Amino acid sequence: MDMQHPAADPHAEIREEVRKLCARFPGEYWRELDARRGYPTEFVNALTESGYLGALIPEEFGGAGLPLSGAAAILEEIQSSGCNGAACHAQMYIMGTILRHGSAAQKAQYLPAIAEGRLRLQAFGVTEPTSGTDTTALRTTARREGDRYIVNGQKIWTSRAEHSDLMLLLARTTPRDQVAKKTEGLSTFIVDMRTAKGLTIRPIRTMMNHNSCEVFFDNMEVPAENLLGQEGRGFRYILDGMNAERLLIAAECIGDAKWFIAKASAYAKERVLFGRPIGQNQGVQFPIAKAYAQMRAAEAIVQKGLAKFERGENCGEEANMGKMLAAEASWAAGEACINTHGGFGFAEEYDIERKFRETRLYQVAPISTNLILSYIGEHVLGMPRSY
Ligand SMILES: Cc1cc2nc3c(=O)[nH]c(=O)nc-3n(C[C@H](O)[C@H](O)[C@H](O)COP(=O)(O)OP(=O)(O)OC[C@H]3O[C@@H](n4cnc5c(N)ncnc54)[C@H](O)[C@@H]3O)c2cc1C
Repeated sequence: MDMQHPAADPHAEIREEVRKLCARFPGEYWRELDARRGYPTEFVNALTESGYLGALIPEEFGGAGLPLSGAAAILEEIQSSGCNGAACHAQMYIMGTILRHGSAAQKAQYLPAIAEGRLRLQAFGVTEPTSGTDTTALRTTARREGDRYIVNGQKIWTSRAEHSDLMLLLARTTPRDQVAKKTEGLSTFIVDMRTAKGLTIRPIRTMMNHNSCEVFFDNMEVPAENLLGQEGRGFRYILDGMNAERLLIAAECIGDAKWFIAKASAYAKERVLFGRPIGQNQGVQFPIAKAYAQMRAAEAIVQKGLAKFERGENCGEEANMGKMLAAEASWAAGEACINTHGGFGFAEEYDIERKFRETRLYQVAPISTNLILSYIGEHVLGMPRSY
């Protein structure tokens, strides 16, 4: 059955075009990269040239000026085509921080270049080894000296750091014991990684091909003009972008779920054992049907969240629930897909085991399920804060 959106979908044409682009990057392409943990440069270039990675950049800065639902449609289609948007998805949501909080000069300097594909803003340096989820406990410092900041510290899980020109960095500019609230005294910087001295990047090999890295700052100088917005307000700026990020990641999980469900149901119809298709057995059919129902429920919440976001309403509830439910749906669909394929689900040439590894991440990053439940408990249901 057709799992795409109805023709009335305002992004139907974009979806169709993204599917065509993705068809040029079949399973063999991703398998070869996966084996050597390579970066899908050709795929990212193709997306950039088609303008998809500048989808959310307003037209006045050379982007497509699409609403968030347009970006979600692009990422969903990438995933449901069997490709992997993790190679570049961050650019879509990181640039929002420059758009919302950058000065006129910063926007003019960076946004058109990002939209044209001359500059890559793919790296987001927030997580640190010792602070993890407890972001405000981060230890990287940026000390102002004249017309520059001197940055010292370390980030971990800075994805795509080796394949990005710029990094959006969160660092402490005022020590934690000198601010009234721990959320104050953090600042956001645009780091030009092409020219930065005192910057070391070390890739981390993970269970899937994600190009994630450790990044070390040893007296790295960042020009003061690269501070985004006001000093000390950086944590607020990062939080501002989180609903968009969660909705986009949720859209990717929905795309993954659609890929698994399509693959599983097709195989269940064609694989004949004991004289009938395996999909005739309820033990095979029901997990796929259940994952489909979970995916559709998550999709409905994500669509509601996107609509609220585009109306300028608070969509924290839907963004959080949508991200959690979509990540669970993609995992359930992945489980059903592996089980339906029996031993073949483990063979690399079917791409299932690769997608299975890739989609597992989204229950942990960019925000773990526990922290989403904490958000719902506290902000939606009014229970006491648990941390
Ligand atoms: C492949 C990959 C790519 C990533 N890319 C990026 C990136 O580009 N940029 C970036 O900044 N970060 C990135 N991350 C980091 C990611 O956002 C974190 O891994 C995630 O937020 C969890 O933090 P942590 O790993 O430090 O786990 P921890 O914070 O140590 O948490 C460990 C476990 O404890 C649970 N936990 C912690 N505190 C609580 C609490 N109060 N209540 C209940 N449970 C709790 C968590 O849910 C989790 O299950 C990436 C991570 C991975 C694995």
